[in-house]
Amino acid sequence: MTTITPLPPLGAPKQALHLADERDYLLELAQDVPDVISLGLGDPDFATPAHIVQAAQGALRDGRCDRLTDPAGLIELRRAIGAKLARVNGLRAEPATEITVTTGGQEGLYVLIQAILDPGDEILVPDPRYSSYDAAIARAGGVLVSVPTTEAENFALDPAEVERRITPRTKALLLVTPGNPTAAVIPPATLRRLAEIAQEHDLLVISDEIYEYYVYSGSEHLSIGSLPGMAERTITLNGFSKAYAMTGWRLGYVVAPPAITQAIRAIKMQVSIVAPAVSQWAGIAALTGPQDCIPAMREEYDRRRLALMTALTESGYTYGYPSGAFYIFTNISHTGLPAFELSRKLLTEAKVLIFPGTGFGEAWGDYMRFSLLQPIPVLREAVERMNRVLR
Ligand code: PMP
Repeated sequence: MTTITPLPPLGAPKQALHLADERDYLLELAQDVPDVISLGLGDPDFATPAHIVQAAQGALRDGRCDRLTDPAGLIELRRAIGAKLARVNGLRAEPATEITVTTGGQEGLYVLIQAILDPGDEILVPDPRYSSYDAAIARAGGVLVSVPTTEAENFALDPAEVERRITPRTKALLLVTPGNPTAAVIPPATLRRLAEIAQEHDLLVISDEIYEYYVYSGSEHLSIGSLPGMAERTITLNGFSKAYAMTGWRLGYVVAPPAITQAIRAIKMQVSIVAPAVSQWAGIAALTGPQDCIPAMREEYDRRRLALMTALTESGYTYGYPSGAFYIFTNISHTGLPAFELSRKLLTEAKVLIFPGTGFGEAWGDYMRFSLLQPIPVLREAVERMNRVLR
């Protein structure tokens, strides 16, 4: 007689998914709040540049979007990504064997983690962190080992803190620069030290460079995979959402050595087969067309960053200095309320949506993540509304 073995409890994955629970609750609550100002999601408020939209329209009209493309992505797109990696990042990647187009950076993140982690493998992740890392790592049965950073150090990652946490089970080090939610940029000197550590301990490095173009006030973006000896152990994650205001198109890519790329492609096939053809044609236009939208958006985010820093400082808040991305990870301890309580109060009473720090790691109940994805007058209005409610 056949016996059916009960499924094991989903303890670990459910645990890891709770970081997103508060955020989902707030987003749902926000739907019933009229005139809400959202400084929540990291979804750029700019329109996708017109030439990209037109290229997509042309591809639809010409019937180029009716079929599956090569599962790794259109070769024309992978070549354009390869040229961009060489031009912008100093990375040499072979389109045929080292570049995979994904349905958003998010899918890239998920599949690359499944491809490299076996159950019990440890992966070092700076804290606070983007909560999707937790979910992807837990699904793979991996163990997230968080490397703390502090507001006092502007959330800088200390290589000594990384090294101290390496064990025989450590498989990989995850880096995100510029960072979400901290807006910290990892300086080249630190990346060089981290590259040495990765080589000494034979670690893979995942480099999430989704925010690469948004770096301010003298900070510099460096792709760790371009450093000597790093190409063979680095997996670079990137996408079109933030660079070209294309979150809705769901287009990203992963760059990895051939053996890891093979594993990534096999898993990716089971998740989505391939990214939508229309988005891939749009991606080609994004990479090969005019690039002036990037500095234009960067300059506007920079103005917003300075305006929100001023408004927050004048209202008595402190924060880690935001050197990149489009967030300010803000200390709210002087309000006397835990972050989630404060988020709920601000949403219902001030009509401002801001995510609590606890969505980025359990330790961050005294912080909230403000996003810069509203025009300056709206950012100022948001802080005024907060001040009125908290006075
Ligand atoms: N990495 C980080 C750090 C992010 O903040 C995001 C999106 N918020 C992603 C990856 C995924 O982005 P997308 O799927 O839009 O490319």
